[in-house]
Amino acid sequence: MSNCTKPLIHVSNLCKSYGNSKILSGISFDIESGDLVSVIGPSGCGKSTLLRCLNCLEVLDDGEISIDSIRLLASDHRKNESLFSRRANRLRLNVGMVFQEFNLFPHKTLLGNITLAQTVVKSESVGKARDLAMFLLEKVGLGNFGERYPWSLSGGQKQRAAIARALAMKPKVMLYDEPTSSLDPEMIEEVLQVMRDLDNDGMTQIIVTHEMRFAKDASDYIIYMENGEIVEISDEDEIFINPQDDRTRRFLKRYM
Ligand code: ADP
Repeated sequence: MSNCTKPLIHVSNLCKSYGNSKILSGISFDIESGDLVSVIGPSGCGKSTLLRCLNCLEVLDDGEISIDSIRLLASDHRKNESLFSRRANRLRLNVGMVFQEFNLFPHKTLLGNITLAQTVVKSESVGKARDLAMFLLEKVGLGNFGERYPWSLSGGQKQRAAIARALAMKPKVMLYDEPTSSLDPEMIEEVLQVMRDLDNDGMTQIIVTHEMRFAKDASDYIIYMENGEIVEISDEDEIFINPQDDRTRRFLKRYM
């Protein structure tokens, strides 16, 4: 992660506060194309806020983010808000985001969910949007579910459909905010498998997760955060077998 020549994602000195509360302090890392990175850490340490910053759902207080050469500097927001917003919109098109609670449109079928943004945001033809939606539903194991509504699906199926919907925008990076936390145990694996399959396809993915077994087995790198800071970034063997920081060791002891 640190040795890459041209990272797909570059984050430098990212800072974010809400009022007087510092939520993220000096976050820096690089991620190469094709990497699967898990972000772990105690509740409230800023993991979701970090993902929201990467998807431009939050305004940065300081620092910079670049994804696929689109660069956002906090200082640009202070200087020229409309230029910053245009750049944030371009950057957001490179990023697909999947939330814990799926956030599918309840009044639309899965095909409707997956074609909507393609036709509205990308002005894709209905036929092409539908073809891609069917391809993606097949890919996440929901090939026969196109005409089904979200209410008729299990949690695992809804989450797989949400992943297909995000993929339909052809993002360069997928972000997942605790994608399996609201699922029954027997459905967790089917969602994690979709992420493993995407990893095999070369998709770049960042996952905030409490699934330590998945983080250990599937990640190229793990970011351990505490109190709005990155404590440690290591590959999966290093962090689980030989954590460098006592805080990481204490956290993993509780989880493993
Ligand atoms: P995590 O994902 O690690 O559980 P979060 O990023 O959700 O942590 O939250 C980090 C801290 O920021 C928490 O203390 C949370 O209460 C606070 N926080 C998150 N969103 C907001 C907000 N919109 N306004 C104020 N505080 C917030």
